[in-house]
Amino acid sequence: MKLGQGDSTHKRLRIGVTPLARPKTRFTGFWFFLERVLRYSIMTGKAKIESLIKNIQKDVLLAPYTTFKIGGPAEYFLVARTKEELVKAIKTAQDLKIPYFILGGGSKMLISDRGFSGLVVKTENQECEVRGEKIIAEAGVPLARLVELATQNSLSGLEFGVGIPGTIGGAVHNNAGIPKDWIFGWAIGDQIESVTLLMADGKIKTVNRKWMEFGYRESRLKRYPQGEKPVILSVVLRLKKAKKATIERLIKEKVQKRKEKIPPGPSVGCIFKNPPNSYAGLLIDKCGLKGKQIGKAQISPRHANFIINLGDAKAEDVLRLINLAKREVRKRFGLELREEVQYLGF
Ligand SMILES: Cc1cc2nc3c(=O)[nH]c(=O)nc-3n(C[C@H](O)[C@H](O)[C@H](O)COP(=O)(O)OP(=O)(O)OC[C@H]3O[C@@H](n4cnc5c(N)ncnc54)[C@H](O)[C@@H]3O)c2cc1C
Repeated sequence: MKLGQGDSTHKRLRIGVTPLARPKTRFTGFWFFLERVLRYSIMTGKAKIESLIKNIQKDVLLAPYTTFKIGGPAEYFLVARTKEELVKAIKTAQDLKIPYFILGGGSKMLISDRGFSGLVVKTENQECEVRGEKIIAEAGVPLARLVELATQNSLSGLEFGVGIPGTIGGAVHNNAGIPKDWIFGWAIGDQIESVTLLMADGKIKTVNRKWMEFGYRESRLKRYPQGEKPVILSVVLRLKKAKKATIERLIKEKVQKRKEKIPPGPSVGCIFKNPPNSYAGLLIDKCGLKGKQIGKAQISPRHANFIINLGDAKAEDVLRLINLAKREVRKRFGLELREEVQYLGF
């Protein structure tokens, strides 16, 4: 599936256009033609977006903005460094009916080789502060920075996040966490007090944890269709005072566990969710697919729920491995693997 541009602009073209002052001469036909050409080129939504959003870039390759190092160009690309820039970019795209996508650290994304026809907004709004046992953080703050900040302030609850790449916005959208067998399960949703969202109607709304309907690598936001999905602007995390030494010990344990479990190389972490009472990696392994390679993409020989980009892997290679794993697990175990990885531009 290729995402389209929407039929945004043509009706809007006529709104607010000052007709060119046309001299009454025998060249009227020429002026009429010129006016039409200018109307078309200046007033299309796309031309408009370039003039309305400061620092917007064109045809930017997305691969470097993902941990997979895969993905074609975004037609338009903006790094939003403040909440205001983020809100303005989204509202402008909404008004012009240009498809848009919010990218955090790109650590759970498989982006098509053809890229994305529309606007990709990368969140780098990074204000955060500690208030008692709470941390208030904007969506673009890296989770790693919050783990560090919590530790420095003797606040416990984010230890599980050590080593998880990406932003707090992406973590909350995905309810990022660690498996239950890693001493005990933890996910970011457990620590959320409230989330401030930019809704599809342009309103800003603050919701509580219950509203977010967190589940295993799930949140309510994941279920919205793209384009209607609320954008996380900031979050409030509620943590607990603890001894710094205890927090540091927990972090050390998790760093060690990650060293044992996470294979090296560009990836997006686990490709599939674990089915109830089982492990996706184990099932894929039992199908004899560990080490299976298509193009430059490989099912990790160390952990079969990881696909590694061995060099210049194509999104298509990864997709074929994903489909192969699903097919084989279905055939052998009658189980349907569900992706944790998210797609853009297919
Ligand atoms: C080596 C490695 C290890 C990993 N280990 C773990 C792990 O232990 N546990 C785990 O859960 N995950 C893990 N991951 C996956 C990933 O790091 C997490 O899911 C992370 O929280 C995603 O955050 P991100 O900012 O990179 O999101 P992205 O990948 O950029 O985006 C993911 C989704 O979130 C949406 N999104 C991002 N920001 C916003 C926003 N502000 N508002 C609304 N929607 C938004 C995007 O549109 C997209 O749909 C791992 C990945 C790698 C590469």
